[in-house]
Amino acid sequence: MTERIYNFSAGPAVLPVPVLEEAQRDMLALPGVGMSVMEISHRSKTFDEIIGGAEQGLRALMGIPENYKVLFLQGGASLQFSMIPLNLLPEGGVADYVITGSWGKKALKEAKRAGEINVAANMEDSRYSRTPEQHELKLSPQAAYVHLTANETIEGVEWKDLPDVGDAPLVSDASSNILSRVEPVEKYALIYAGAQKNMGPSGLTVVIIRDDLLARAPSGLHTMLDYRTHVENDSLYNTPNTWGVYILNLVCKWLKAKGGIEGMQRENEAKAKLLYDAIDATDFYRGHAAPESRSLMNVTFRLPSEDLEKQFVREATAAGLDGLKGHRSVGGLRASIYNAFPREGVEALVEFMKEFERKNG
Ligand SMILES: *Cc1c(COP(=O)(O)O)cnc(C)c1O
Repeated sequence: MTERIYNFSAGPAVLPVPVLEEAQRDMLALPGVGMSVMEISHRSKTFDEIIGGAEQGLRALMGIPENYKVLFLQGGASLQFSMIPLNLLPEGGVADYVITGSWGKKALKEAKRAGEINVAANMEDSRYSRTPEQHELKLSPQAAYVHLTANETIEGVEWKDLPDVGDAPLVSDASSNILSRVEPVEKYALIYAGAQKNMGPSGLTVVIIRDDLLARAPSGLHTMLDYRTHVENDSLYNTPNTWGVYILNLVCKWLKAKGGIEGMQRENEAKAKLLYDAIDATDFYRGHAAPESRSLMNVTFRLPSEDLEKQFVREATAAGLDGLKGHRSVGGLRASIYNAFPREGVEALVEFMKEFERKNG
């Protein structure tokens, strides 16, 4: 087998090796089926079991209550930036957006096309380095919903304690931290996530939506944009990403075997601590996110100069540590250490950081 390197990519991102191995083993023929998952009907009994397994897997892992629907959609988290306001923001209503980074800004841009939006907080002044405190939020009295980005993948800023939004439905873009830590689904009205960070391949989007929100969509909404279409057809109105759902099902089984989300959270906290401790140990490295908002998934940091950052990326890549270049909008370095990223890879990066500083500091 060719060697696997340490893949710090922000997304599409590293997948669990046992999942890839199982997919490889069954690539030509699913056991007892004689065809690959990509060649069977999405209306076959086999696929029924796969999509049912993925839904049950998510329900069990996250403890999703009965009164929530789980949808498997396409168009990425980015299409949800539009579907959410189109379905949930009634005419004459207002929705609140809390902007803690680049993805929140993109969500805001689409929402503004659909109706009236109140920016409850925009953390741009902090260079998107932290989530706001409760007193910094200017919430609308009758918001149709409040939208936030659970983890800003580009800046590496994650909500630790949710804001108090009263009775307003809370909508969360959890693309880059879903399944990474224990969190009661009941606190949210809608959770959505593109699969390609923590759940599987790109081209699959998971939407978890509370029943009562489904009644809100205006009649006349385009069929594919209406959540009710996908609820009524069990996500099979059109052809779903069958491969993506299949991998998600395997990822859920892998997570369960690892002790579920509780076990995963412990590992994620330990991995992130190794890296943040290395950053804090010296002045050579500077973390971007404020300590209280540091992401467990995307660790962003800077070096003393851009030249050193380029050199760091170049030498790290050569050493088998791939994908560490920060997003162009923030610069610096970003180590994405999702669920499937192995602890040994974090240890290798910490060693590399020490050595790099010793030579160049
Ligand atoms: C990656 C990402 C997106 C965009 O996801 P797509 O599936 O590419 O549309 C949106 N929000 C967050 C937080 C992300 O990390």
